[in-house]
Amino acid sequence: MTDFRDKLDEQIVRWVKSDIRKIGAYHVPDSDGMIKLDAMENPFVWPEKMQQEWAALISAAHVNRYPHPDAPEVKAGIQNVFDIPEGVDLMLGNGSDELIQLIAMAVNGDGRKILAPEPSFVMYKMVAQFVGMDYVGVPLNDQFEINLEVMLRTIEVEKPAVIFLAQPNNPTGNLWGNEKLRRILEAAPGLVVIDEAYTAFTEADYMSWLEDFPNLLIMRTFSKVGLAGLRLGMLFGHEAWIEQINKLRLPYNINSLTQMTAAFALQHYDVLTNQTAEIVRQRKQLSASLSAFGSLQVFPSEANFILVRTAPGQAKSIHEGLKNIGILVKSLDGSHPALNDCLRINVSSSEENQLLVNALTSLLN
Ligand SMILES: *Cc1c(COP(=O)(O)O)cnc(C)c1O
Repeated sequence: MTDFRDKLDEQIVRWVKSDIRKIGAYHVPDSDGMIKLDAMENPFVWPEKMQQEWAALISAAHVNRYPHPDAPEVKAGIQNVFDIPEGVDLMLGNGSDELIQLIAMAVNGDGRKILAPEPSFVMYKMVAQFVGMDYVGVPLNDQFEINLEVMLRTIEVEKPAVIFLAQPNNPTGNLWGNEKLRRILEAAPGLVVIDEAYTAFTEADYMSWLEDFPNLLIMRTFSKVGLAGLRLGMLFGHEAWIEQINKLRLPYNINSLTQMTAAFALQHYDVLTNQTAEIVRQRKQLSASLSAFGSLQVFPSEANFILVRTAPGQAKSIHEGLKNIGILVKSLDGSHPALNDCLRINVSSSEENQLLVNALTSLLN
């Protein structure tokens, strides 16, 4: 038996690249039976009638067959609900996480770099590690704004192949403003991806900029509007870019059930947008309730979550205390120096938000 184990370990060390062996696996906590305020999901379900129509549709699926390789019904539905400029093409990914990886694979090469402000979405850095690119994080200031001078200087020195800008940013929830984004797009020697994962919760919308900047791509996802389980992300850009990146997509990356469900959901998109509008209303309310706890610093949010900073050293015990009551939020304490004492909390239904506020009242007072 020890022979087996030794041989196994020897094989892994010999063949798995050391860069890969060093990566910590992405951890997803067990959330069975919990109120989930940690993963930016939409808490609302579909109306009963819509559920039934969908179930009937799905029951007729031919899962013995491969899915359509290009998901044309999904794409047509997307073109119906989003305002997409002329000459802009679209490709789909198994979540936008897959699209981040495909973009990186397309531009990867000796010394090629991915750049992103920090703290931001962790997947930009993880994908850089997966594909063996260098990653450059440019620190945000203490209000989580971009320091434009530092950013432009770093771009000039590092010459990144891709810059990822999440707007609004995860986990901070804020926007960086059009002027800064324009200057970054003009200075970038390579691609700039504006990641609009939270487009449903903000007025900010950079889709029309695709007409002005040949190095821009826009990424969106269905995850945050209520379809996280489908795993469906969208990448918009000039057809010349999409043509190249699309070559790296594995055939059939969007499965039949996802295609059917997404096409159906897009026909009822008003149901989803009514739900996200409710989240935006709740965000205002929850923000005010959280601010009323004198000991919490509440950051402004354009997304479906709110970043808060607890009193020094309190984040872990509040996170644990909530968990013991059955409420899961995301603790960012220790994940990045700028996020010490920070928790990221989903905005949910008025009932779940109230349960959170009640729980915090018992923990903080
Ligand atoms: C959640 C999130 C995504 C990931 O979306 P999936 O489509 O679920 O892979 C991408 N970008 C940002 C900034 C996110 O917060």
